[in-house]
Amino acid sequence: EDIYGVERWSRGLITVTPEGEIALCDPAHPEAAPIPLPGILHDLDERGIAAPLLLRVSSFLEAEIKHLNQSFADAIARMNYKAPYRGVFPIKVNQQAQVIDRIVEFGKPYQYGLEAGSKPELVIALAHRLSKEALIVCNGVKDAEFVRLAILSRRLGFNTVIVLESPKEAETVIEVSRELGEDPLLGVRVKLTQKIGGKWQESSGDRSAFGMNSDQLLRVVDRLRDEGLLHCLKLQHSHLGSQVPDVIDVRRAVAEACRYFVALTAEGAPLSHLDLGGGLGVDYTGEKKASENSINYTVEEYCHNIVETVTYAMDEAGLEHPVLVTESGRALVATSSMLIFEAMESTVYDAPDTPEPEEEDHHLVSDLAAVAGYLGPQRVQECWNDAIYYRDELRALFRRGVVDLRQMARGERIYLSLMSRIKGIVAAQGDESDLSEDLHKIADVYHCNFSLFQSLPDVWAIDQLHPIVPLQMHDQAPDRRAVLSDITCDSDGKIDRFILGDGIAPSLPVHSLPEDKPYYFGVFFVGAYQETLGDLHNLFGDTNVVTIDLRPDGGFDLLHEQEGDTIAEVMAAVEFDPNDCVAAFRKMVDEATSAGTVKTSERKLLMDAYRDSINGYTYYERHSG
Ligand code: PLP
Repeated sequence: EDIYGVERWSRGLITVTPEGEIALCDPAHPEAAPIPLPGILHDLDERGIAAPLLLRVSSFLEAEIKHLNQSFADAIARMNYKAPYRGVFPIKVNQQAQVIDRIVEFGKPYQYGLEAGSKPELVIALAHRLSKEALIVCNGVKDAEFVRLAILSRRLGFNTVIVLESPKEAETVIEVSRELGEDPLLGVRVKLTQKIGGKWQESSGDRSAFGMNSDQLLRVVDRLRDEGLLHCLKLQHSHLGSQVPDVIDVRRAVAEACRYFVALTAEGAPLSHLDLGGGLGVDYTGEKKASENSINYTVEEYCHNIVETVTYAMDEAGLEHPVLVTESGRALVATSSMLIFEAMESTVYDAPDTPEPEEEDHHLVSDLAAVAGYLGPQRVQECWNDAIYYRDELRALFRRGVVDLRQMARGERIYLSLMSRIKGIVAAQGDESDLSEDLHKIADVYHCNFSLFQSLPDVWAIDQLHPIVPLQMHDQAPDRRAVLSDITCDSDGKIDRFILGDGIAPSLPVHSLPEDKPYYFGVFFVGAYQETLGDLHNLFGDTNVVTIDLRPDGGFDLLHEQEGDTIAEVMAAVEFDPNDCVAAFRKMVDEATSAGTVKTSERKLLMDAYRDSINGYTYYERHSG
């Protein structure tokens, strides 16, 4: 039984071995044995790289780039489309050098380019040698400096397209190109009226923040014509929003984009590139339906729908087929990173044994104990109600000073033992039980070594779901259910929605924590947006990051290792100078030594403790003792 739905959401990249371990499958070598993650972690641990860590699998990234380009190539061949696909990767989706460098490398055979939404992103894009026909598409708000760099970069052979977002921006571009005496390569961003469903619907339709409506577009076209720059307008851009759930919305939006393309061409714009933005989704849950965390289409279908829609529209208008551009970010990088962390301890909400009754027990304690006498499959709901009622009454009496702490502790313990028995009965009844939903309320809390805010910000901010599974012990039935709590001191720092084989659940089946070995969880498909959006809540910094490549012989190559932030680094990020802090601490130690409250011989101990911390990892360190 696939409790965690691994086979459903894993897209063949992840599997469970007969030994019960989560393993990575090399898409380039499907015949090779999957490589178990616990083994990889053990190996990394021996090299001094501990969890929490972000594991990037280069082989997955390469496979996604190939898949998207191959799917467009297939659709183009099938429709006898007369122009190529030239995708660009939006840097904002994952700006890490290790990721961008690899996308550029793996994208070379496909003339893959980059999308820059800001000056820093353009600067990053221009530090890469792209293939001759690859594009750099500049979106976002642009000042004269941005525009100047974009125009000048063409002298180095870059195909840098400035996508005009507004009539005002057109004026900036006209001014700068006049000043440089050089033609820009231009695009216009069209605001489509078509709206999408899902989390990002605000990025589409009339009220979306970017792009121009028909009136603004015509004003820009007229201005460019007046300035003798209309011949520079080569690309039309539109973006529907990320993670489009329903492929019908893609078709409708593309059809609308084509209408603009045909109309702008009729206005005299020599458009040659149709850029359809991002939006290609990831099926996080594996449900294959149009919902917030799933999509009702495959990459192949997405590509085919686009190519087919554009072919018909252009043929009908009698126009040449434009070069197709998309700015797929999420779909390219999400699957290639996973976050791995360890469960440190658990808080359980049941107890295996019941204390013996005592003479002096308060009657509510005795009432609680008596529930055990009539607890059985027939009366389980009644017992649940009674146990909660007596426990709450007891707590109220404690608050009013009527019962003492020992009495309340006995009551709590009896309550927990009742919960343990109730859990057993409900588990045996399965979904038939009216209480199966309620049981999530008494799920264990597994305290884990990670920061939700740093590593999974979308889980916190927008209820994003990622597949989460224990990495080991799949050969044993899970005996507990848990929610996962992070290491920040924030009650929001928890995960309580999980993708399972039979749907979404508020708790995750887990194993009792083994005493002799670590118990790891993996959070999958976290390569898009999470790294950049993460923040320093409680000053938990970047985790260790490791990039690996899977080898067909069952091993892996460590391509790159980036140590997580030290405490000194996160201090600097919030404007504390670590040296000043050491000096301030030393001054206090010296004063205490002079005053005699710290012995001279203890001075070094104190200073070493402070310095060791400042140079260390921000997360819980198993080996730090
Ligand atoms: N292009 C633009 C202009 C965007 O704003 C975005 C993100 O929303 C993307 C591309 C990437 O979208 P996705 O990650 O859905 O492919």
